[in-house]
Amino acid sequence: MKIGVLALQGAFVEHEAALAALGAETVEIRRLSHFTDGLDGLVLPGGESTVQGKLLRESGLFQPVKEAISGGMPVFATCAGLILLAERLSNDDAVWLGLLDVTVRRNAYGRQLGSFRAELKVGGIEKFPAVFIRAPYVEQAGRETEILARAEEKIVAVRQKNMLATAFHPELTDDLRLHRFFLEQIGGAK
Ligand code: GLN
Repeated sequence: MKIGVLALQGAFVEHEAALAALGAETVEIRRLSHFTDGLDGLVLPGGESTVQGKLLRESGLFQPVKEAISGGMPVFATCAGLILLAERLSNDDAVWLGLLDVTVRRNAYGRQLGSFRAELKVGGIEKFPAVFIRAPYVEQAGRETEILARAEEKIVAVRQKNMLATAFHPELTDDLRLHRFFLEQIGGAK
């Protein structure tokens, strides 16, 4: 099982460690030449979505990544990755990949709650230690989008076909259950 991890900016190393601990091979995607055939999935890490979106465009990765995901490549997007995938942003004019049928609010928790932790039920996973950092949330999810988790009523994890996305950072805890869930979906969990 070989997973590409977008490594333009943000918390990609932690995703690599989590995937490696589960027995997956990881490939850092920084340039178009790194985005080759033979990837079983892709991680879009947290960080700063505007910076990542611009770097995606400058590197020439934008269109190939978009096509691969819309063609069914399994993707696990966290935080800024969720923003990159969203079809609509409620407080930003930008739309990046525009593949996930959700409306996302950036930096949605305001200054008081810049970062926080919460223990959440995420799909079948109980008590997941979720870390939020200047996080977005999903204001509205489309009909095809399955809601996997809420934190204080707000939608913070969703799945739609080959796309799994969280507003929080599962890679910043040592709980591997969400990464395992992602790999299981694509038939690659140990
Ligand atoms: N605030 C960031 C953005 O809007 C996302 C934060 C994160 O990825 N931890 O892009």
